[in-house]
Amino acid sequence: MKVTLNNIGKKYESREDFTLRNINLEIEDKEFCVILGPSGCGKTTLLRMIAGLNSITEGDLVFGEKRVNKLASKDRDIAMVFQSYALYPHMTVYDNMAFSLSMRKERKNIINERVMEAAKLLQIENYLYSKPSDISGGQRQRVALGRAIVRKPSVFLMDEPLSNLDAKLREHMRVELVRIHKALGTTSIYVTHDQIEAMTMATKIVLMNDGKIQQVGKPYEFYEKPQNMFVAKFIGSPTINLIKGKISGDKFISEDGLISITQKGENLKAVTDYNGKDIYLGVRSERFITGKNVEQFKCVIDVIEVLGKEKNLFVKLSSGKDLVITVPGHYDYEVGEKHVFGFDSEALHFFDAETKERIN
Ligand code: ATP
Repeated sequence: MKVTLNNIGKKYESREDFTLRNINLEIEDKEFCVILGPSGCGKTTLLRMIAGLNSITEGDLVFGEKRVNKLASKDRDIAMVFQSYALYPHMTVYDNMAFSLSMRKERKNIINERVMEAAKLLQIENYLYSKPSDISGGQRQRVALGRAIVRKPSVFLMDEPLSNLDAKLREHMRVELVRIHKALGTTSIYVTHDQIEAMTMATKIVLMNDGKIQQVGKPYEFYEKPQNMFVAKFIGSPTINLIKGKISGDKFISEDGLISITQKGENLKAVTDYNGKDIYLGVRSERFITGKNVEQFKCVIDVIEVLGKEKNLFVKLSSGKDLVITVPGHYDYEVGEKHVFGFDSEALHFFDAETKERIN
């Protein structure tokens, strides 16, 4: 089912200002939409409004063609999975999953069919008659998902459902969730502060900050074309390098004068209006190059972070400016060594120093 948010706003009575305002968003049928953002940006507030657990102060929430602002949560045909997935401890996994259907007085054979179907999808068939205390955290999280799946809702709402799991299990469950979403095709709205979850699972990411949407799009767009400096910094690890400077003719020159890059083609067109003005250049750590015919800058290696597959070189320019450069793990570098690097001209992001909006 399609979910549409038109100019949604939320003001908590105890607060002076709106927590959320002017939220416009279309979540298409079958989409896996991840609402991403730092703590306190309003993600949970938004999800709870969609769920019917928070009132909507202004705007329209539309499910399919129907405005549901005033519709009770239980009548919205949604199922929710939260970080704390309180299961009934005295009930078996099977009964936990069957519970909502039993309450709805669904026929026994239908309940059985749905629970078995969900158990198979979640690969928990072997634990159906165990109690929650006898299974692992990851398995319990699957039961919580199962409980939502058996209801065959039109929309799944998930709020940080993996954050209680250890790193390995989270990695595994990310793939599982993608598989389950593919199998069921149910519209899903998933809240997280974890960019990796967003990048790996979403068909659409909504990145929020301070109660406002910063960018909506496909995961790769966030990495390749961040719309402003907040997005550029939030997505990607190590954090994107940002270098303040000016445009002088066809050149970007860093404020310390140590980096100079000639602009051509589309990039040159984009920055011509900025001649003489302050601008930020953004470069992801893996987009530095070496070699002939490259405009290079000098630096000293300050710290090396060894990650196995790759190394992060934390380098310093003579002005004190720090940059991080990622190189393949098998390349030899030593702390204290002097090096020269250049920029891949295809991978330059420019931002207006005043508005922080993308230029190119
Ligand atoms: P987190 O990832 O930490 O859960 P979040 O992005 O989900 O953060 P929200 O929980 O939606 O953010 O909170 C957004 C803002 O609204 C915060 O400033 C928070 O203090 C405030 N807020 C949340 N719930 C209420 C409430 N019931 N009454 C008043 N203010 C609230």
